[in-house]
Amino acid sequence: MSRRPALVIVCLLAGCGDNRVTPPEPPDAACVPADPPSADCADPCFDDRGPELRMELAVADLALPPPPGGSTPVRVSLFYTVAPQEPGTWSRSDVADRMRQIVTSTDAILAQCDMHVEVEVAQVIALPARLLDIQGNEEGSFGGHPPKGTPDPDLFDYEQNERLTAESREVFEYGKTHSSKNTIDAYTIDHIVYYANQMLDEAGGLSYPPNIYHHVDDYPYRNAVLLVPEYGACGDLPGMPGTRTLAHEIGHMLLNTGGHNGAFNNLMVNGTVLTAAQCDTMAANLDALFGDAEVPDPGPPGG
Ligand SMILES: [Zn+2]
Repeated sequence: MSRRPALVIVCLLAGCGDNRVTPPEPPDAACVPADPPSADCADPCFDDRGPELRMELAVADLALPPPPGGSTPVRVSLFYTVAPQEPGTWSRSDVADRMRQIVTSTDAILAQCDMHVEVEVAQVIALPARLLDIQGNEEGSFGGHPPKGTPDPDLFDYEQNERLTAESREVFEYGKTHSSKNTIDAYTIDHIVYYANQMLDEAGGLSYPPNIYHHVDDYPYRNAVLLVPEYGACGDLPGMPGTRTLAHEIGHMLLNTGGHNGAFNNLMVNGTVLTAAQCDTMAANLDALFGDAEVPDPGPPGG
């Protein structure tokens, strides 16, 4: 379409008398967003576009209560994601309310370890459908779920040398241009498919613990977790993730394992409880892997 003025100029110079009619160019169908948007928000018009900032909030906008004295901060950046279609009717305070609830419910669990979420960056970003429906790992991966009876599951996971998928990397690279390397970037996402014990599965959340994702080229992008709330109409702000989802995914990151070991009601099983031993491991890994030091590959477990 941008060439039309040029055609007019050419026509004037040529006097328009040569009868060589140039048909008008049809509109570029790929760049006219479907109206109304398709139910799954898939629209080729947006496919070429990557993550785009829609709204940046100051941490003060979240109006978080002060953490208890002596509590250890776990640095987290929060990225709510929306489809790139025309935004719905959400406001800055809607985003702040959701983020505050996520932090508050996570802090209620992490308090067992004298830890709390310290928000570094808070944004709403637009993702095209190809990134909102993410493939979490490569086909046939174990995804932190080794075959039953594997003697040393963490060593097994380490030896899988899993990599970030192109989609997850594209999203996580955006976050790491805005957040510190060892901050855990938390994203909402519409849909996750991933392989657990080589079987295709779906997830309400996903994490990328250093023990599994330790290829040097995936650092620091693997310092990210995904949360799956309910997405409404295209462009709307999604609802709330599960109240224990972020804490559970942070648990994977700080326990540095894809495992789900523990008693009934443990955070890593189906509840919210953290044991003293888990808290000790989380505190040690918070220092070793999520402090200032850059550790692309933590080495095999126990090594
Ligand atoms: Zn899990």
